[in-house]
Amino acid sequence: MNNKQSLYSLTLEELQTLLVKNDFAKYAADQIYHWIYKNFKLHSDDWSNTSKKMRQWLVENYDTSIPEVVTVLESVDGTRKFLFKLSDGELVEAVTIPMPGRLTICVSSQVGCAVGCKFCRTALMGFKRNLDSSEIIGQYLSATLWLREKVDQNTLITNIVYMGQGEPLLNLANVKTSVMVFLEDKGISIGQRRITLSTSGIASQIEKLIDFPSVNLAISLHAADDITRDLLMPINKKYNMERLLDAINQIPLKANRRITYEYLLVDKVNDRMVDVENLTRILKRKLSKINLIPFNSFPGCEFKTPSKEKVVWFQEQLLNRDFVCTIRSSKGEDILAACGQLKADHCLANK
Ligand code: SF4
Repeated sequence: MNNKQSLYSLTLEELQTLLVKNDFAKYAADQIYHWIYKNFKLHSDDWSNTSKKMRQWLVENYDTSIPEVVTVLESVDGTRKFLFKLSDGELVEAVTIPMPGRLTICVSSQVGCAVGCKFCRTALMGFKRNLDSSEIIGQYLSATLWLREKVDQNTLITNIVYMGQGEPLLNLANVKTSVMVFLEDKGISIGQRRITLSTSGIASQIEKLIDFPSVNLAISLHAADDITRDLLMPINKKYNMERLLDAINQIPLKANRRITYEYLLVDKVNDRMVDVENLTRILKRKLSKINLIPFNSFPGCEFKTPSKEKVVWFQEQLLNRDFVCTIRSSKGEDILAACGQLKADHCLANK
């Protein structure tokens, strides 16, 4: 395990301050950001327009390693599931998902997860530790470098979703730093609308998002009444639906922005007419988008996959009630990268 702080955990402003404090030029921070996050040159020897003395000092004092790619599984639809080894040997996963005109990476924010959703394989691992911001950014850098070397040297990941292992809002400080690095104009410069934070609904943390960069927010709702949500997500016993919706209502939304509600459709649990009616009662149509995710059952899980007809029926009911409602296509099913199939042994979590 490396005890040095990672260079990738520094925002541009922090790097500028650090350099000035150590008698180096402030503008060198911009140059380093450009090399790392625009050119993906992580080795300081490549930073040709910066002073050798500064480079030496930086690598002596800061860690520049990134998560190691252990395996990459590729789906027939182009989805790739990366298994990364961190500096202490822990394993996390990220998934890259190609879509027309964009390439999304789904990153992990924790090793394991403490939230314990009943439908989620990650929950079976329990919680191990938070990821440092550099380990979140490192998943992006490592996947980009791998794809540039093996697939296409011009690969650019355009969208980021915090939907892998872990509950991002329970690692809020590190997630926030990583978002600031992703947003930085002089670096990766991903737009706010291309970053999505997904949460199981930790109301006390949602209230803190008032100070957070204005990225997209996805709430894993998965039920429209407390009894059903308690069954799927024990976190609902701590933050019930009323508390959750109160917290969400406090978030100032920019014009034309909606909150996405993820709704995992589970056969005969939350796919009934009463669920449609409850959703209609609790969500504000103009401010909400409902994303239906057909549940993928797995061995040992008490819940079942709904029929395709039932999924379409459920969507129609919500569309008829003037909701924006989509069905999430299940990408990477053949490599267990689809929603609900992440575990330490490698799949993407339900969020
Ligand atoms: S769905 Fe997300 S929040 Fe729930 S247990 Fe899985 S990783 Fe944690």
